[in-house]
Amino acid sequence: MQQNISTDRKNFFSKVKRVVIKVGSAVLTGAGEGLDQKRIEQLAGEISAIMDKGHEVILVSSGAIAAGLAKLGMKKTKGMPLPLKQAAAAVGQSGLMWMYEKTFGSHGKKVAQILLTREDLSNRARFLNARNTLKVLLEHGVVPIINENDTVAVDEIKFGDNDNLSGMVVHLADADLLIILSDIDGLYTADPRLRPSAELIPVVEKITAEMEKGAGDALSSVGTGGMRSKVMTAKKVGAYGVPMVIINGRKQGNIGGLFEGKEGGTIFLPKTDRNRSRQHWIAYTACSTGGVVVDDGGRDALENKGKSLLPGGIVGIEGSFKAGDCVNCSDLKGNVFARGLTKYSSVDLERIKGLKTSQIASILGHKDYDEVIHRDDLVIL
Ligand code: GLU
Repeated sequence: MQQNISTDRKNFFSKVKRVVIKVGSAVLTGAGEGLDQKRIEQLAGEISAIMDKGHEVILVSSGAIAAGLAKLGMKKTKGMPLPLKQAAAAVGQSGLMWMYEKTFGSHGKKVAQILLTREDLSNRARFLNARNTLKVLLEHGVVPIINENDTVAVDEIKFGDNDNLSGMVVHLADADLLIILSDIDGLYTADPRLRPSAELIPVVEKITAEMEKGAGDALSSVGTGGMRSKVMTAKKVGAYGVPMVIINGRKQGNIGGLFEGKEGGTIFLPKTDRNRSRQHWIAYTACSTGGVVVDDGGRDALENKGKSLLPGGIVGIEGSFKAGDCVNCSDLKGNVFARGLTKYSSVDLERIKGLKTSQIASILGHKDYDEVIHRDDLVIL
């Protein structure tokens, strides 16, 4: 796969069936002054053109807060209270969708609005509902347009930013490619706005620790432009076996050009070993509500012997959780080394931790499972 993308771009991109395209506020708004209708028209035109060639597109669009603030005659300021931003998003979201309705409509395309919070994707049932809805929309040739449900999203249930959201949508929709439309051409060796000598990195084969931390001159400066969250998103989708591309969303023809195999932007190549979908969901999407502390023998059994987690290996319980929740497994030093779906609640585990499986029934009055986390529901991080 790696070889294909870097040496035969046209072949790779023409074969992409389903793509998630993320567009940020900086691309959609003219100098922070509300939505730039011309750019949205251009975007709808380019996306419609690739859809007409057979690609399925899911759009993750920001711009609600920026649009809403402009309508309210306000400007975004540092430290603006969250409820004001949420109110602005509520005002702006309808205007954003109205513009997409109009512009996609002129190309004969229908759009659908989907607003999500992190909780919607960390809850397996809601995740599957959202996945089914997306599937049917795509079958009907509709463009799903996704944003965070800002009205209800406070810190604990926020995706953080729409780069992160778009990465999760790749998994939700089981997409083949993520395109991030940025206001610069891609990932550079340094911030091109500050250093004219900075060079565009056309292909990232491996995300280095420096890139990840956003440390060092090259990335901390670019990071202020939001590059760090893009690199982290590339890592997540890469772990799922999906490549990510950053291109400049302000330049006309860039989306079409990509699918024609033209050079440009930065491509992040995925890891070849594609995680199974459910495991990826456990590792990256499911929110951990608490955790278990595992002794050295238990850690070894999980990490090196491919075993399930039994009550005997558990020495402590952190937080409170229900059976079926996703929990962290940490070692005696507090390092989280695995995540999995627990079959027992925190209350039950407090009573059976450290015990043999044969003792579960007599303590709890029932024994539904031998293991606390089954191997199939466990991901080593
Ligand atoms: N949901 C926010 C909005 O529509 C954007 C968040 C982001 O850009 O990361 O304005």
